[in-house]
Amino acid sequence: MIRTGEELLELVRPGILNLKPYTCARDTVKEGVLLDANENPFQRIHCGSLLNRYPDPHQVDLRRELSRFTGVPFSSVLAASGSDEVFDWLFKVFCIPGNDSVALFEPTYGMYEVTAGIFGIPVVRFQLDDDFNFRPESFLERAGDDIKILFLCSPNNPTGKMVSEESVIKVLENWKGLVVVDEAYLEFSGQASMAALVADYPALVVTRTFSKAFGSAGVRLGYVAADPQLIKLFLKVKLPYNLSVLTQRAGIEALENLEEAVEEIDRIVKEKQRLEKELEAVENVEIVTESRANFLLIRCPNAREVYESLFSKGIIIRDRGSQHGLENCLRVSIGTPEENDLFMAGLKDALRDSEDS
Ligand code: PMP
Repeated sequence: MIRTGEELLELVRPGILNLKPYTCARDTVKEGVLLDANENPFQRIHCGSLLNRYPDPHQVDLRRELSRFTGVPFSSVLAASGSDEVFDWLFKVFCIPGNDSVALFEPTYGMYEVTAGIFGIPVVRFQLDDDFNFRPESFLERAGDDIKILFLCSPNNPTGKMVSEESVIKVLENWKGLVVVDEAYLEFSGQASMAALVADYPALVVTRTFSKAFGSAGVRLGYVAADPQLIKLFLKVKLPYNLSVLTQRAGIEALENLEEAVEEIDRIVKEKQRLEKELEAVENVEIVTESRANFLLIRCPNAREVYESLFSKGIIIRDRGSQHGLENCLRVSIGTPEENDLFMAGLKDALRDSEDS
């Protein structure tokens, strides 16, 4: 088990520990006669934000709000250009090609593997059990010393299943690597975030996003809760101005208007329940898992044909049939009631057509 932030530093690439980060103009000074950053001095204001000046590289105002929202100390949170950016930082800080590998449990979100590929880091694949549950024993029994990071996703994409807190703690207490819990869909689950555990487990990294429940996928804003030592390393490796002035403002405003997200989450979850009921009544369609996210995973005969039939009508879902254990599976996001009706009608048509042919 990794007990302290200092112990965690033993896993860091030596080059990163010794790296002298780029010092940028807005690191410390934000006000005064600013002639230090070759900016245009004339004020340009857009959406209430001053655009001619570089943004705060330390994201102080946004992190203060994130800290308030998550209950995690300021020194333990940092925002990124989408939660995908955090995965990049993790590889930069910890993984040496030819030396290290990372692990994941299939089927899961594809970006962990893609990011590993970009950094030249091999992926050790484990499998969720037959009911798509994460079993910590199956990891602990086989995890080699070369594995630096285990990626878990809760609720998992594309199954919508949660990873239990006990199972994450079991890995943290019996293994000497980092455990990333990707909580991109957490707000739909009604469950508590594991971010609060970061204070007790320095090897735990929790990622979250504004792209799903907060309705801000176009903003590109995610964040990470991690040990303060790790946050310092992320500050070293991130691009100095990774978040625009507009992005930081949008994040603060989203957190100031939580009721909006809460109300939408409620509507989405109710729509999901309606869709589940309607799908249960459709012959030949199986809801694969009880999803705690804003999507459903269904299985039906000739799923590829069904997908293509829906596509030809402009109804776009995801064919997940090529993922481990998901033959003939389709993932559909919960849309507006009208969109969901169109999906249901299109699905029934497609199933009828594929039966006839
Ligand atoms: N994690 C999971 C499980 C996702 O499904 C996604 C988006 N599809 C992300 C992370 C990335 O989110 P972001 O928009 O914050 O980069």
